[in-house]
Amino acid sequence: MPNDIRNRLEKIHDEILTCARCPLHQSRRHAVPGEGDLQANVMIIGEAPGTQEDKQGRPFVGQAGRMLNKLLEACGIDRQRTFITNSVKCRPPENRKPHRGELAICKANWLDRQIAWIDPKVVILLGKTPLEQVLEVAPPLRDLHGQTLKRNGRRFVPMYHPAAGLRSPQVRQTMREDLQKLGQILPALAR
Ligand code: URA
Repeated sequence: MPNDIRNRLEKIHDEILTCARCPLHQSRRHAVPGEGDLQANVMIIGEAPGTQEDKQGRPFVGQAGRMLNKLLEACGIDRQRTFITNSVKCRPPENRKPHRGELAICKANWLDRQIAWIDPKVVILLGKTPLEQVLEVAPPLRDLHGQTLKRNGRRFVPMYHPAAGLRSPQVRQTMREDLQKLGQILPALAR
């Protein structure tokens, strides 16, 4: 990866930590820029930091994260070799859904640049929030999960959010199948 791109990614990481562009900064403990391999083939986008993530400043470190880790491992996808982030980088109060304006600000300032500069082969969108934010489409996930949608030469794969998987064994099984399918095609996409 060229040094200037690495530097730019590190710079926005630091800028996110002190971001005050939307009201979510008022109630956060820590912003959560994202973590992982800056040259990842796979980028994973969740919805928003929760309580644990807000405490630790790291994405997917709570219950949903533990389930995601297990599923990734079972499907041969190494979390360390992915880059994981969220639609918004700060925890919404009471873990409410991020508002439309917050999503737009966070995307325009941070997420679009993270996607462009990391330049992953595949972006996994966990749940409806990143699906609508990134692809600007709103069909039900039950129609789209596991499918590969191409936009500007990049592959996006919507999946259920792990929090839904925690509530439903059936959803968990569907997530496992979707990730397995992706795990099988990844070697062919690797650089
Ligand atoms: N849920 C998310 O969408 N993101 C996290 O980082 C944690 C839980």
